[in-house]
Amino acid sequence: MRKKIVAGNWKMNKTFEEAKALTAELSGMIQAEVHTHTEVIICTPFPYLPTLQQMVGNGKIKTGAQNCSEQASGAYTGEVSAPMLKSIDIPYVIIGHSERRQYFNESYTQLAKKTDIALANGLTPIFCCGEPLAVRENNQHENLVREQIEASLFHLSAADIAKVVIAYEPVWAIGTGKTASAQQAQDMHEVIRKHLAQKYGEAVANAISILYGGSVNAGNAAELFACPDVDGGLVGGASLKSREFTDIVKAMKA
Ligand code: PEP
Repeated sequence: MRKKIVAGNWKMNKTFEEAKALTAELSGMIQAEVHTHTEVIICTPFPYLPTLQQMVGNGKIKTGAQNCSEQASGAYTGEVSAPMLKSIDIPYVIIGHSERRQYFNESYTQLAKKTDIALANGLTPIFCCGEPLAVRENNQHENLVREQIEASLFHLSAADIAKVVIAYEPVWAIGTGKTASAQQAQDMHEVIRKHLAQKYGEAVANAISILYGGSVNAGNAAELFACPDVDGGLVGGASLKSREFTDIVKAMKA
């Protein structure tokens, strides 16, 4: 069975004190209220990761970074590498978030390299894909998402792609309060899974978790998570509030 996952993407939010308080609240709530097999992940700013990783320990919450360099080490001022994340026991890393594609011009090739180095260091990449509004309006969204996946992931072996989590995040739904309908999410997730199946076969495609991201909240999570090809969510704004994020996790049926 595919892993059910709810991952919070904190982006560039929270002071250190606020981050610790949120993590403490979340740990308590998730421990007390969540009894499913859902993997709960918090992808936090880099400087807080070692402390928050220690706080969550081997409990129900896992940690993730929001990015990593495609380089292993060296003269790349300001970058953080996958081996560094491995050295502080961080299990997940978001790769190719639309904000990084847009503001940092991350290319398909660069994202392929980031995925490779994450996997080589035992990190699970949460690989993001998704179309801007204009692309959907031109009815090219399926083509673009297939292209994003093909260009940055299809060089992987079947064994490696099986370790990747994919997050479909329509850009027009991120941080806008505008969510894709459950049907729109399901349709795209099905397209992604079929594309994976064509390249890697049904068994591999059926084992890959595909998360939906884009204004997920406690009110819409249950409907989205009930879709057969939606295996969880990547949550931005709503992951910054412990009650709301816990309720989103609870919306995932076992
Ligand atoms: C995200 O940044 O990955 C995201 C989905 O943000 P939001 O939930 O705020 O739309």
